[in-house]
Amino acid sequence: MNITETYESMGVDPKIYNLGEEVLKDCKDAFDRIDKLAEMNQLKVLNAFRKNQVSEACLHGTTGYGYNDFGRDTLEAVYADIFHTEDALVRPQITCGTHAIALALFSNLRPGDELLAPAGRLYDTMDEVIGLRDSKGSHKEYGVTYKQVNLTADGGFDYEGIKNALTDKTKIVHIQRSKGYEPRKTFSVEEIGNLIKFIKGIKPDVIAFVDNCYGEFTEAIEPTDVGADMCAGSLIKNPGGGLAPIGGYIAGNKECIENAAARLTSPGLGKEVGASLEVMRSLYQGIFLAPTVSASAVKGALFAAGIYEHFGFKVVPSFAEKERHDIIQSIVFNDANKLIAFCKGIQAASPVDSFVKPEPSDMPGYDSKVIMAAGTFVSGASIELSADGPLRAPYAAYFQGGITWPHVKFGILNTVSELYKENLVSL
Ligand SMILES: *Cc1c(COP(=O)(O)O)cnc(C)c1O
Repeated sequence: MNITETYESMGVDPKIYNLGEEVLKDCKDAFDRIDKLAEMNQLKVLNAFRKNQVSEACLHGTTGYGYNDFGRDTLEAVYADIFHTEDALVRPQITCGTHAIALALFSNLRPGDELLAPAGRLYDTMDEVIGLRDSKGSHKEYGVTYKQVNLTADGGFDYEGIKNALTDKTKIVHIQRSKGYEPRKTFSVEEIGNLIKFIKGIKPDVIAFVDNCYGEFTEAIEPTDVGADMCAGSLIKNPGGGLAPIGGYIAGNKECIENAAARLTSPGLGKEVGASLEVMRSLYQGIFLAPTVSASAVKGALFAAGIYEHFGFKVVPSFAEKERHDIIQSIVFNDANKLIAFCKGIQAASPVDSFVKPEPSDMPGYDSKVIMAAGTFVSGASIELSADGPLRAPYAAYFQGGITWPHVKFGILNTVSELYKENLVSL
């Protein structure tokens, strides 16, 4: 069988395959650039491994208290070199991205301090961390206040507003790189750098913190290369390379990381405890693969944009936006059935649970049903091929991940097949 026949045997009509090839012609330059980026990031990561003399012994874990956990300590040195920071905290005990971010914030804020979001609303889960929605253990309970400066109407930074919002109390400025589920663009590292420069020009001692979720390795530099004192993210997203089964990281200056370690474990214990159990090999191999895995996901996002723009759907970012700063692509279907068909196509293209039909269901914290598609090796891992969307107007799918490019390509073509079979698009 040739490749068209192979796709056809898997349910992808040759017309759909050919459409994919047409779109790929317009991706060529962008893909070349993404490959170059992966190359630079691969060298950066390899260099950190070599410099820190990662050895076979590092891949073994510890149990109990985890004193003198050589593998854990070396991995943290590797992360610090990748992010060009003084130190890093990379632990399986950090349970997810929200935990990593909350840890970075709580450990560096004290009662009476203020957290400032200078670039608009933060990720949903931050509401309860800050205490915007009532919750146990929020900043609000600890007497930490919050201020937010919204973006301007054209999506830029409100420099005047930020200047006015910075006070003696401002301890941390929290900048979120990826748009998450907000209708704004994702900031480039350069834009983040300019914002930090502006803020530090007014208040040099403020801690610049970046929520780096979904952004790692989508550019050749990271926020800590342009003035961020600290950044944090999840290992079941980009830096885990699809292999990390759990974990989060914070990279930053010595004092920030010391504070974070004291809060994660205990004052006095800090980084010295925390057994790495059996996950070291996956965390090392994951960060080693992360540059090419993230590149595959970015290629998939761009390809999806091209395909669905062809059918006349609004896609964010648009296909013309070839320079990406995270791995997320949204497709606005304006039709519940199309959103559901898209998610079915992703699920059926998954290596795990391909036979499962995703159904819209109620989710805590959402006021409408949500449909999710994910057949992942690591539960909930959004660096693996996955999609979700709330069942309400404008019926947008958020699509991300794909640890190999051929897999994402098939996944997207399979979503088109699903819509085509249900007469929701015409070829
Ligand atoms: C995913 C994400 C988070 C939260 O990470 P979880 O692992 O889901 O807790 C925070 N911020 C952004 C921008 C994210 O994409």
